[in-house]
Amino acid sequence: LKNQNPVISKPRYVRVNTLKMDVESAIQEIGKTNKVAKDDMVPDMLVLPSGVDLHDHPLVKNGSMFLQGKASSMVAVALCPKPGWKVLDGCAAPGNKTIHLAALMKGKGNIIACELHEERVKVLQDTIRRSGAPNVDIVHGDFLDIDTRDPLFAKVRAILLDPSCSGSGISAERLDHLLPSFSKGHDVDAATSQRAKKLAAFQRKALAHALSFPEVERVVYSTCSIYQTENEDVIKSVLPLATSLNFELATPFPRWPRRGLPVFEGCKYSQSQAEHVLRTDPREDMEGFFIALFVRKKSINSSGK
Ligand code: SAM
Repeated sequence: LKNQNPVISKPRYVRVNTLKMDVESAIQEIGKTNKVAKDDMVPDMLVLPSGVDLHDHPLVKNGSMFLQGKASSMVAVALCPKPGWKVLDGCAAPGNKTIHLAALMKGKGNIIACELHEERVKVLQDTIRRSGAPNVDIVHGDFLDIDTRDPLFAKVRAILLDPSCSGSGISAERLDHLLPSFSKGHDVDAATSQRAKKLAAFQRKALAHALSFPEVERVVYSTCSIYQTENEDVIKSVLPLATSLNFELATPFPRWPRRGLPVFEGCKYSQSQAEHVLRTDPREDMEGFFIALFVRKKSINSSGK
């Protein structure tokens, strides 16, 4: 049993890029050769039978559809940016979530996609070009160096932060070796634990930075890691700052059954904090993702803009 891939019989997901094609037309086209249905939770997501390979499908090649997993596609939907907003994607390449934001915003408003590594900026450019998104500007640099008072960023209303992580929720070898520790929320061995801690140090800084943008109303934090260190622990560490800036955790996809690990003891409303955040399971849901959404409470004097 050890080498069997437990996700092999799971369905395939594909996201329709509504900047180029509507969902009904995509279903009609894909339905000519495959059984296809709409996902019941993530808009614009199609579900196909296990084993279907769409890599060479013309609609994938021309950017009308993207082979993005369901869990990964939940992140931009959770942020829920409105057409016309200014939105920042803090760690953007290869750009799957950037172009998903663009589609949700119907190509209106402005998305700034920040990416540190030059070779990944090229991949990001290519993804944006294929998607046809007209409203994305790329910033090649360190997200942590962005001056939140710079006029270019001062009006950012929503931030998607999907920082570098261990990838433990999607790496193939994890399926054999790491799953037993997942349910306990523990890291696996000393080296893995050290690496996760190092990544978490950046993730904490980046999330704190995202929350400090003056006009930001919504911040979504996500990883494709199954480790508590990179997930609940990061959220827990920024909660005091978030609260001081008038943010609270919101509940993305409230119907989704898998929520966070119950590690928020000592925090205000500790039980519900775990229930706000969302996990997907690498076995059941194909990918192990973590999503937390911060929403800024409207101040009493808010003009309602
Ligand atoms: N959101 C992307 C998507 O869905 O296609 C995946 C993002 S990937 C998990 C993290 C990205 O952040 C990598 O491309 C990495 O190079 C970039 N990165 C790492 N540190 C960064 C930093 N300090 N500033 C900006 N980007 C950074």
